[in-house]
Amino acid sequence: MMDIQQLGMTFPLIFNMQNKEEIIWFNPSIIKAGDALKNVSVTAEMVQDASDRLDRFASYLRIAFPETEKAKGIIESPLVKIPKMASALKEFFQTELTGELLLKCDNALPISGSIKARGGIYEVLKIAEQLAIKEGLLKETDDYAVLYTEKFKQFFSNYSIAVGSTGNLGLSIGIMSAKLGFQVTVHMSSDAKQWKKDMLRSKGVIVVEYDFDYSIAVLEGRKQAEKDPSCFFIDDENSIDLFVGYAVAASRLKTQLEQSKIIVDAEHPLFVYLPCGVGGGPGGVAFGLKLLFGDHVHCYFAEPTSSPCMLLGLMTGLHEKISVADIGLDNKTDADGLAVGRPSGFVGKTLEKLISGSYTINDKTLYELLALLADTENILLEPSALAGMTGPIHLTKQGVSLQNATHIVWATGGGMVPSKEMKVYYEKGKQYLIK
Ligand SMILES: *Cc1c(COP(=O)(O)O)cnc(C)c1O
Repeated sequence: MMDIQQLGMTFPLIFNMQNKEEIIWFNPSIIKAGDALKNVSVTAEMVQDASDRLDRFASYLRIAFPETEKAKGIIESPLVKIPKMASALKEFFQTELTGELLLKCDNALPISGSIKARGGIYEVLKIAEQLAIKEGLLKETDDYAVLYTEKFKQFFSNYSIAVGSTGNLGLSIGIMSAKLGFQVTVHMSSDAKQWKKDMLRSKGVIVVEYDFDYSIAVLEGRKQAEKDPSCFFIDDENSIDLFVGYAVAASRLKTQLEQSKIIVDAEHPLFVYLPCGVGGGPGGVAFGLKLLFGDHVHCYFAEPTSSPCMLLGLMTGLHEKISVADIGLDNKTDADGLAVGRPSGFVGKTLEKLISGSYTINDKTLYELLALLADTENILLEPSALAGMTGPIHLTKQGVSLQNATHIVWATGGGMVPSKEMKVYYEKGKQYLIK
């Protein structure tokens, strides 16, 4: 048993977390990005390699998923200004908000409508490429459109892919793997939404349901895959491939910022707020951004007050050795994409000197912001994806200098939510706003 009273003497924020307060933690271990990046296992070359691989697959993706045709098979999302939401936030939180507010709309990512369309899809593509090359069916210089043929579907059907998920990763991996022809099993935690299970089953994906949370779903998936040498397990907790797939977002964002004539330098800092579950998605994106923008970008994680696993792991330095259950939190939240009780140790250790801080948000605030964003900007997100929105508010209240700042709230999902479900989310937010 962990002695939490003892731990709380060193990290008194733990007591506020136990009370489910909305808190912010600033990372005292952050150092110059250049120095921090020298001592981690992931490199710029690995991210570039992932980017190149996604480029090779573009000709396949544009025919396999016609919604990617407009972007020529590149899975990317818009970056939009949300000035009306900025005004609404100021009024709602009764505070100033210096700098420009933008939304990175990963809810609009093609194929699976969430940030998981980055890392999740990337890892499946990498597995497919390696198998095909090893078999002598494919060369890196080929036009990958050939993968969209019966011959390849047949070939991939000899292999299976397994993943444990709270929902969105399962959607991403399931849709992509099934399209290529793999047999695919998704191990779903108890908090996964019914419509996600239904949608996957309709695509021929095997869905195994558990009465337990995310960690158990992952554990079971890993066990099943270990028994079968033709089965590849997508390890959300430890996968470097997932991580670098997410990190590719950074160079794409850099191009978008340049196109919008937004400067990022010492006088024009960039603040990025990333909803965090196990850590791979937000960690990968933050890592990619630190590679490109160094000390001019400041990345913050955002987690539910019931599931602040990454904050807890980073603050205590215990990473995957501590879970929110250890401090008495139940990991129950409507932000299902963030319902993770134990963080990825790999991500925590990779980011521990790069991340600026981490904060929490409760479900009520998520719903309120969901309705506010819908009303002001006509953008519909799932609850998890609103977690980034209070970042600039926290920094303002803490007196962080935000002169000439650009704030990017990473909207991590919502694109696949059925309209009936979305209406329930929205109505809930409106109810809270009225009260
Ligand atoms: C998965 C997910 C996240 C967080 O990603 P992790 O890799 O689990 O940290 C954030 N938002 C949404 C909507 C997600 O599905």
